[in-house]
Parts: sequence; structure tokens; C-alpha cells
Amino acid sequence: MTTRKDWEQAHVYTDEMLAQARQALEEVRAGRPVDEAVRRHPVPGGGYPAKHVLVAVYRSLTESGEWPPDPALLERIRMKPVRTLSGVTTVTVLTQPYPCPGQCIFCPSDAQMPKSYLPDEPGARRGLEHAYDPFAQVSSRIQALTAVGHPTDKIELLILGGCWSAYPRDYQEWFVRRCFEAMNETPHESLEAAQAFNETAPHRNVGLTIETRPPDITPAELAWLRRLGVTRVQMGAQSLDDRILALNRRGHTAAETHQAVALLRAGGFKIVLHWMPNLLGATPESDRADFARLWQDLCPDEIKIYPTQLLANSDLYAYWQRSEYTPYTTQQLIDLIADLKPTVPRYCRVNRVIRDIPSTYVVAGNKRTSLRQDVQEEMKRRGAACACIRCREVRGHKVQAGDLALQDLVYPAGGAQEHFLSYVTPDDRLAGFLRLSLPQAGAPESGLPDLAGAAIVREVHVYGQSLAVGSEQDGAAQHTGLGTALLRQAEQAARAQGYRRLAVIASVGTRRYYLGRGFTRGSLYLVKDLG
Ligand code: SF4
Ligand SMILES: [Zn+2]
Repeated sequence: MTTRKDWEQAHVYTDEMLAQARQALEEVRAGRPVDEAVRRHPVPGGGYPAKHVLVAVYRSLTESGEWPPDPALLERIRMKPVRTLSGVTTVTVLTQPYPCPGQCIFCPSDAQMPKSYLPDEPGARRGLEHAYDPFAQVSSRIQALTAVGHPTDKIELLILGGCWSAYPRDYQEWFVRRCFEAMNETPHESLEAAQAFNETAPHRNVGLTIETRPPDITPAELAWLRRLGVTRVQMGAQSLDDRILALNRRGHTAAETHQAVALLRAGGFKIVLHWMPNLLGATPESDRADFARLWQDLCPDEIKIYPTQLLANSDLYAYWQRSEYTPYTTQQLIDLIADLKPTVPRYCRVNRVIRDIPSTYVVAGNKRTSLRQDVQEEMKRRGAACACIRCREVRGHKVQAGDLALQDLVYPAGGAQEHFLSYVTPDDRLAGFLRLSLPQAGAPESGLPDLAGAAIVREVHVYGQSLAVGSEQDGAAQHTGLGTALLRQAEQAARAQGYRRLAVIASVGTRRYYLGRGFTRGSLYLVKDLG
């Protein structure tokens, strides 16, 4: 993780360090592996030139014209390429502490943090460091990523905090505008002006996520979220058993989760659900049954499995002290999640199997944060596999467009017929996908005029190293026209079912992409007449 400290250090290069870095860089350019070249040039006073120093030297040499630009060289010296492998760079922003209407017994409280966050959680800490100022958080992150050689032209904003919908709307609007101003590197008079400018800005917003609670999702809220530019919503489902929801004081029923998810789907949003095993009142057996309910009608696009963690500053702690709650052991959790993962449908992405809470906060129960690897090993031992999106993404692999096969996975969800259209490699790796929602009779009314009678494209995702706009990389998936091919397939599928209109939930920074593919501007979506 690039911290602010890294970024500050990136600005105090000594002459000796730069001289060593330059020599190492020359060797890398001549073909020597990066780690080997760096080790041959120790820095006076200890250590070796860090990769961000190599990047800084590369930049100054190419910008002065001494060396011609060499994207392959830059590629080799960049840090942590995995961060942008799914095609976009994620920037996390935290909202200021604010009361959450929820009373969940497992949720930690810390006066200096938004509800549910802990000061030492990576990501959350950066919010605190910047006093929750959205502009400072976004611009410092962009600078830090640029300093280590990442393209930052496509940015997915991830706004975290207790419950977005509970914040006053003028705060929400100000917060989003300030994020856009940071990406635009200029102030604006209104949110709309900031969004319009961002369509051609150097750091384009290609996705905007907020997190909220199921009871807050109403047709009016859908319209408001679209006005802000939101494309993806994270919600805590936690359990689909009303008895367990009540015991844990979630303040909503499973039916409300279903209603909220169906509405979000009708509004074309991408849906991320959090699900928690080991809540008060649950057993591994009840958790298995509960997990299966996720795929009956909710069918989230992405999930985060957050095993309940017993924290001293949560109400659950008192239950544990009275012996009314027992956390699962690490082995129980590994066994449980290794049972669950192979049941995840191919259209869903398992983003997390544990929350990134430093183990020092955990009072009892599992303290291992490497649970994902443990589960992976257990599944390997059993000969089981997970076919979720994350496990099938092409990542760094080269893709030949001619080898790709089109798949159309159709499933019912929340009153819609969903099509998960994807292009896969011969070894079943995912090069790109599109989510098409065809609302059926009985689907909830979104009340959004753009969507009346329309088929809806909820997501288009093409994998490959995130490329700077205009740059090409042989064999990388992003620029081989997969997005255009997927859109064509979606149009065909919608037309075949009698839809005359196609709408797409576009982020501000991808509006032009769709405008170039036959879509026109509606009020909150881009729309296309299928004729
Ligand atoms: S709704 Fe979320 S943030 Fe609010 S108390 Fe419950 S878990 Fe915590
Ligand atoms: Zn998986």
C-alpha cells in the first residue's frame, strides 16, 4: 500500500540516491531484472533505490528528452501492478464521522471514525489523516499513485463511511463535488459543472460507489444517487434470516433487503452485498443455508463475506462476556468458507472473505487476516474450485481476441431476467463481461423516465492492465474492442425479447464512450433507440 509517508519520501531524493537509481535504471533498460539491478546499486547510508525513485528518474529522463518514452520499461519498474489489473484505479474516500441510524450489535464505535470503521484499518487511516476532507483525500491519492508510475486517467471512487444516505444531502452533494474537483484539478460552481468538466478531464471518474442500508433505498433515492453520479451501491444484507437480523439489531427484515436490491437492479445499479457468517444466533449449518438464499432472488453482482469479528467496542462483547456468543475458530471458518465458495455463481465476484481489521482489535475467535489464502489451500486440498469473477479474471494474461468465446448466462433476479454476457478464453478466464437487465412483469418501478420500458446495461467491464487513454498494449484486453462487441450482443438480446430501447448507467467519465456508440443523453442515463 502506498502511504502518505511513501509519497513524502518520494520527494526527498538525495543526489547519491538518484545517481544509484539512474545506474540501476540503465541496467534494467539494458535487460537486467529489476530486483537484481537495484541490488547492485546500494544507496549510501543503507538500502536500495525504491521503485518509486526509479520511476521518478525515468520520468525526469523522458520528460527532459534525454531518453525516448519507453512504456515497456515503465511497466517493469512500476510498483504493485495488481492494483490496476482490473482496468481502473480505485481511490477510497472516507466521509466524516456521523451517527448511523443502525444499532447493529457487532458494529464497532470509535468517536474519531465514521460508524463501523477503526482508526488502524488501512484505507480508513488515510481519511483520518486528511481530516475527512474529500478534496485532500482524492488529490493526495492521485499524486501518490502517479509518483509510483500508475496511470490515473480512470478512477473508480469508493466512498466509505457508516451510511451514506443518513448524511444530509447538502453534505453529500458537497462531498461528491469536491471529489470531482480533485480529479479535475480545478474548482467548479456546481456539481453538474464539475461532472460535465470531468467528461474530458485528465482523471476521469469511471465508477462511483457508496454504501448504505436497505431501508434507505427508495425510488426517490435512486434518482438522487444518479444525480450524484453513483453507479454502484454496497449494502449490508448480513443475513437473510429475520430471527438473526432481529437478534443482531439490524433494524430491517430480509424482505426489505429483497425490496432494496430489486429497486437498485431496476435502477441499473451494480449491487454489492455484505454477508456475515457467525452472527449472534447463527451456526455453521444455518450459515450454509443462509448463504444459499443469496442466489435465489437477490443474486448480487459482488459480495463481501465478512465473518463477524468480536471487537471490544461493540455491543456483542457483552454477549460474549455472558457466554451468550461464541466466535467460530479459524478452522471452522476455513471449513465453512471453503464449502461456500464453490457454490458462488459465475456472475458474482467474491471481493473479500474477511474484513481488513488489524488482529489486535479482535478479542476472541479468528485472528488470521490471511483467511483467503487459507481457504484457497483448503479448497485445493479438496479438489474444489471457485468460479466467481475474481477467480477467473484474465489479470496479467495476454488475450487473443480470436480465441475468445461468448457466453450468455441467463438467470432470474428481483423481477428481471439477467444476462451475464462474457467473453472467456479457452481455459475459462474472463476477458470481459456485460450485465444486461431485462425487467419483467412484476419488477419494481424505478420511477426513472429514462428507464421506462427499457432494457438496462448495468455494467460493462473489460479486463487488462489499466491503460492510459490513447496508449495501446499488444494483446491487452482493454483496447481490442471487447466493450463494443459486448454492447452489440446486449442490443441483440434486448431486441430479441421485444425491447425497443436500451439504457446504460454510465459514470461521468464513460459518458463519451457510449455517446460514441450510438447512445444519446437522457436525463440520468444514456439511452439508445433499438428501432
Ligand atoms: S448499519 Fe452498518 S454502520 Fe450502521 S450500525 Fe449497522 S453495521 Fe454499523
Ligand atoms: Zn472466487
